[in-house]
Amino acid sequence: MLSLTKSKEAFEEAKTLMPGGVNSPVRSFSAMGSTPPFIEKAKGSKIYDIDGNVYIDYVGSWGPMIAGHANEKVIAAINAAAKNGTSYGAPTLLESKLAKLTMEFYPSIEKIRMVNSGTEATMSALRLARGFTGRDKIVKCIGCYHGHSDGLLVAAGSGAATFGAPSSPGVTKNVAADTLLVPYNDTEATEKVFEEYGENIAALIIEPVAGNMGLVLPKQGYLRALREITEKYGALLIFDEVMCGFRASLGGAQAAYGITPDLTCLGKIIGGGLPVAAYGGRRDIMDNVAPVGKVYQAGTLSGNPLAMAAGIATLEILKEDIDGADASRALTLKTKELVLGIEAKAKEAGVKIITHQAGSMFGIFFSEKEVYNYEDAASADQEAFKIWFHSMLEQGIYLAPSQFETVFMSLAHTKEDIEKTIEAAGVAFKKVCG
Ligand SMILES: *Cc1c(COP(=O)(O)O)cnc(C)c1O
Repeated sequence: MLSLTKSKEAFEEAKTLMPGGVNSPVRSFSAMGSTPPFIEKAKGSKIYDIDGNVYIDYVGSWGPMIAGHANEKVIAAINAAAKNGTSYGAPTLLESKLAKLTMEFYPSIEKIRMVNSGTEATMSALRLARGFTGRDKIVKCIGCYHGHSDGLLVAAGSGAATFGAPSSPGVTKNVAADTLLVPYNDTEATEKVFEEYGENIAALIIEPVAGNMGLVLPKQGYLRALREITEKYGALLIFDEVMCGFRASLGGAQAAYGITPDLTCLGKIIGGGLPVAAYGGRRDIMDNVAPVGKVYQAGTLSGNPLAMAAGIATLEILKEDIDGADASRALTLKTKELVLGIEAKAKEAGVKIITHQAGSMFGIFFSEKEVYNYEDAASADQEAFKIWFHSMLEQGIYLAPSQFETVFMSLAHTKEDIEKTIEAAGVAFKKVCG
């Protein structure tokens, strides 16, 4: 039996200090109606809470920890950088190194700008798209999350979906009016919106592999259609690969599906567990960013040396071959093994689930019908997920506390981890049956 005595005490205190006791909503476990374990440390595939419980971690800090927690190379790089000072607010060689490494994985990025969060990356990319095209409106998909900047906090998936507040108070009507919404995977609806507003649309922004309404994959030909529609109307195509970057494949969804966006947003993995994100793309567009161009965007801690060092170390690990193939293959195979194992256990227990996988990302819906968009995802059985989630946690398996999130595999997960997780899933599915 999981004891969370100290975590419960800590949570009570935290709630008097921070809204909901947390610095980011989904961490509060409020959608699950339970108390989050307070984490003391992490190593490899495991996280340890302050009550002495150990969990196999499939959250990975919501994506960044692809090399596993406290990876020795990453920690050494951070330590080495820290000895030389933690921030200068001046150019460094580390920034150019991470820029070049990123471009090796993402040839569509000809110029890049480092920022501190995914929110900042998408917000800045949209400002740039508007500045470049001279148009005001943007198109986004219902259920895609692109950070919490005002104009993007409209029908925004996961956190927002989990909390039943698809658009937040504090976002003005005028700002929201410039955000046009279409269902994910719906080419026809997208064409219609462009037919009507095309001349005023600066960009279409999308998670090419959607990970913030649970994991939802693009239908065959969908991303290509978006590329064609945006081109036809002179709007930019922005791939928000903050989550699926380095995960759908090392080159992101754009490499996996062979589509070249105009701008790309990266985050999470690119900082190796420190706060880094980036936006980049076509040189002629990026050269509109200050100080070359007039689109203003800046950051006191952008390109921070510790963060750059952690990002470089992580991307260098991803460049290494594992068993004669790239890291992506090893991650994909491990993830596949886990997903197949979980599917088999669900079948055994007679529980209907839909699973999706993209490289090292996977998602489970307690649903009988295929999930193509937010509406499908939202109709999945939340009570069943809740029971399954708590049983997994009891058994030392740490999953995202919401069905509208994606789960992540790391290089540090072992065969035993995967076997143990599959066994636990079997027990948990039986609980779902009652
Ligand atoms: C996490 C995420 C963001 C926001 O990144 P933050 O660093 O949390 O601001 C944006 N887009 C996508 C697709 C994400 O998954």
